[in-house]
Amino acid sequence: MAQKSPRRLGIMGGTFDPIHHGHLVAASEVAAEFRLDEVIFVPTGEPWQKASRSVTAAEHRYLLTVIATASNPRFTVSRVDIDRGGPTYTIDTLRDFRRMYPQAELFFITGADAMAQIMSWKNVDELWELAHFVSVTRPGYVSQDFGRTEQISLMEIPAMAISSTDCRQRVEDGKPVWYLVPDGVVQYINKHRLYQSDSATRGFGD
Ligand code: ATP
Ligand code: MG
Repeated sequence: MAQKSPRRLGIMGGTFDPIHHGHLVAASEVAAEFRLDEVIFVPTGEPWQKASRSVTAAEHRYLLTVIATASNPRFTVSRVDIDRGGPTYTIDTLRDFRRMYPQAELFFITGADAMAQIMSWKNVDELWELAHFVSVTRPGYVSQDFGRTEQISLMEIPAMAISSTDCRQRVEDGKPVWYLVPDGVVQYINKHRLYQSDSATRGFGD
């Protein structure tokens, strides 16, 4: 069982549509390097309006994340961003975790692409009081050095050229996603016929 009051807590935010081995390797590598007691995966809420594509129902993404992390005793999943509702902002996620774990040291784990997006945020300085950021390498993206070594650690991890976008496209094209995502994730996708073109707008329970 996860510890009640972890001292060093990793937070891995993502859409996880679906979760894949790139996410899991990132969390595992950062957990080992930073001696984290626990990594909490936090699937995002559903956008208010349809963005450029419709994101899969939060309950499916939540369950996919639970299935993928269940076997690791240091990995857990939080519903905070889903239950808050609407689009997720990193600042809200961190404020909630700060409140829930006032004693813990928080480490927010991101890929190089997500870190660049966070840095473009106008109120970025608010983030540094809440957590230390760990930006991991990701194939296809340049790991920028933002020069804030106190606030951001850059970490090289084994290259996993996997994205959720590619996984969704593969399923739609009838190509395999075995070994890109955990076996249980393949089985859940097939069971609920996620990412097939006729299910583009499928909600939970449809
Ligand atoms: P999408 O293609 O839908 O954007 P994604 O594969 O980028 O999906 P997200 O849920 O957007 O996955 O990413 C969650 C976090 O995981 C982000 O910080 C992202 O940078 C990081 N991440 C995703 N894939 C990798 C990977 N292959 N290697 C390292 N980090 C990754
Ligand atoms: Mg992404």
